[in-house]
Amino acid sequence: MKGGANLPLVSSYNRNLVLDTVRSYGVLSRVELAAMTGLTGATMSRIVRVLLDDGLLMETGKGESTGGKPRTLLRIDPTGRYAVGVQVSAASTTVVVTDLVGAVVRRQVLRQGSQREPATVIAATGASVEKVLASADVPRERVAGVGVAFPGLVDADTGTVLAQGGVPGWAGVPLADPLVRGLGLPVLVDNDATAAAIGERWVGSAATASSFGVVFVSDGIGSGLFLDGRPYRGAANQAGELAHVVVHPGGLGCFCGKRGCLNGYTAPHAVVLAARAHQEGHAGCALDLPPGSSSVRQDYDRLARAYAAGVSCALRLLDASAEALSVAMSNLVEMLDLELVVLAGGGFGRMERLHLDAVQAAVGARAEQATTRVLLSPIASDAAAVGAAALVLHREFGARMLGLMS
Ligand SMILES: [Zn+2]
Repeated sequence: MKGGANLPLVSSYNRNLVLDTVRSYGVLSRVELAAMTGLTGATMSRIVRVLLDDGLLMETGKGESTGGKPRTLLRIDPTGRYAVGVQVSAASTTVVVTDLVGAVVRRQVLRQGSQREPATVIAATGASVEKVLASADVPRERVAGVGVAFPGLVDADTGTVLAQGGVPGWAGVPLADPLVRGLGLPVLVDNDATAAAIGERWVGSAATASSFGVVFVSDGIGSGLFLDGRPYRGAANQAGELAHVVVHPGGLGCFCGKRGCLNGYTAPHAVVLAARAHQEGHAGCALDLPPGSSSVRQDYDRLARAYAAGVSCALRLLDASAEALSVAMSNLVEMLDLELVVLAGGGFGRMERLHLDAVQAAVGARAEQATTRVLLSPIASDAAAVGAAALVLHREFGARMLGLMS
């Protein structure tokens, strides 16, 4: 746990450090908080008073006495603030409202249909946020802001899409500004995998981990990194482009121009494409994928069933998918000394366990990496939407040296 600083200059840092410590550990007394943060008892009492008055902390009974009077226990007041999280994907937009601990209090999914032009999607998103906020019945003044998770490269500082991922036509589109004007709330935009990583930090399995990686899988595959207690975006907002990590030198050609990228072996859309190509070239293939258009999700589900039934080309494709991911993640853990790897996004569906086991085996193969945990996300398919809400909570309440280090 980081130490607090007993200086007036850093009072907002101290406030967030106390909040972050309570959030990470659930329930703590003032004495425990002072010991964990290095703040004096008097400073701690003053900060806790402000947080109680502001509705961010609440008292929750008495703890065991260690000789003196019983200690009053503190925890986060979930109703103290709310945040809106939006996940944009090719087919749909998911909007959630979460409370201060990231629990979803309202959720709505908008199907885009053929209306996928950015201006239309942004307008529909704004209307949906208003509607979900109204139905959640939360006080507007307690809504800290709106976070948007986008499946492509994003300039998190300006809220502009730099390059489209799975949704065409968005390169260069300012996403945050029109939403700010329409909603009158702060809006943050980030890559969906980075948002998922921040979501894991706030409500998932990474509450206390200082360095971890999230493998985020929807139709495509990406990763979000959290290093030394903060999200890591890289020099040009391109960190964590897991799809284009080479796992087979000289292997399959990739649209990015390289060969052997993870994308070609493990992204669900690529696995489905390979399965369809195999089926077309082999008259006796038992995959049974239906002719004509079908969603990646449906086809991937069919492949999972074929895998369970022991169909040989499904075994070959999905075992190769898991092996490729295990190579990429083992290298990533080796490079970055991660204490935790989380598989999130729900894109692997029933093949989640296969990929988890492969990554666990590869990461655990070297004794020095054996302490690295590999887990499935408890937030599952809402990871990016909840992560988008967590972007707002993290910006507002995350423990970092505001103005001094950021
Ligand atoms: Zn590539």
